[in-house]
Amino acid sequence: MNELLFLKPVLKNMVWGTENWVVSAHPSGDCVVSEGTYAGQTLSELWDGHRELFNNEEGERFPLLVKLINAEQDLSVQVHPDDAYAWKNENRSLGKAECWYVLDADPEKKLIFGHNATSRKDAEEMIRRGDWNTFLKRVSIKPGCFIQIDPGTVHSTCSGMKMIEIQQNSELTYRLYDHDRLFNGKPRELHIQKALDVIKTPDTSEDRVFPAFPEDGFFTSFYKIRKVCINGEQEFTQNESFQILSVADGSGTIDGHKIRQDDSLIIPYGYGTYTIRGQIEILITSL
Ligand code: ZN
Repeated sequence: MNELLFLKPVLKNMVWGTENWVVSAHPSGDCVVSEGTYAGQTLSELWDGHRELFNNEEGERFPLLVKLINAEQDLSVQVHPDDAYAWKNENRSLGKAECWYVLDADPEKKLIFGHNATSRKDAEEMIRRGDWNTFLKRVSIKPGCFIQIDPGTVHSTCSGMKMIEIQQNSELTYRLYDHDRLFNGKPRELHIQKALDVIKTPDTSEDRVFPAFPEDGFFTSFYKIRKVCINGEQEFTQNESFQILSVADGSGTIDGHKIRQDDSLIIPYGYGTYTIRGQIEILITSL
């Protein structure tokens, strides 16, 4: 297949800001192809009916989800399950590993990431007491940081953060604490027991915050991500099942198509070589 797949993002207004689902085949926001042979079809339709575009990869669902997140308020403190827990307890869903490439951040704010409990019992006591200051770890971040959130990691974003989020195609979130906020006069539902089931103790989040995107790329069993910075012109080869390109900064062209910050697209299986021109920073994600 020698056609790039451009998708229409699905915009979600959240109580805390906005999410733009730029590459999504999730039932809550399935992106539609905007041009070319497959115009008008959703990404999940391509996954179901044209699996050859993705090298006939296995799986019920397109495995990844890419979002642009703009947090105007703090998010709830939350944790996500892994595949095994989600399969067993959430109707055979995928778990949720996610990572963030930070585009913007308020220097006054700190990110909630990880916890200080030494055992499951310790965690449970702190949570039941509502002793959030003791329980939660906070880290400083700045634009250019990269953060991997393994399933079982307690986390939240803070207001003023803008980022690209690359994750497994899952929306399973267990909310632990919502800063005692009310929305329309009511607190949002918490999921303390499920959260306690999946929180990793002791915490292993420490080496998952990178001050800059790792030079040799970042690889997990769910996604591989590389960052490329182009100043002029560079040729690449698509030799993977598919690649997702997400523009983190700047603008330019890919094989003559204009691309700019916040754009994402899919390069299908067998596309071959492609040329990017411009002054542009891109995350390339594959399986
Ligand atoms: Zn999360």
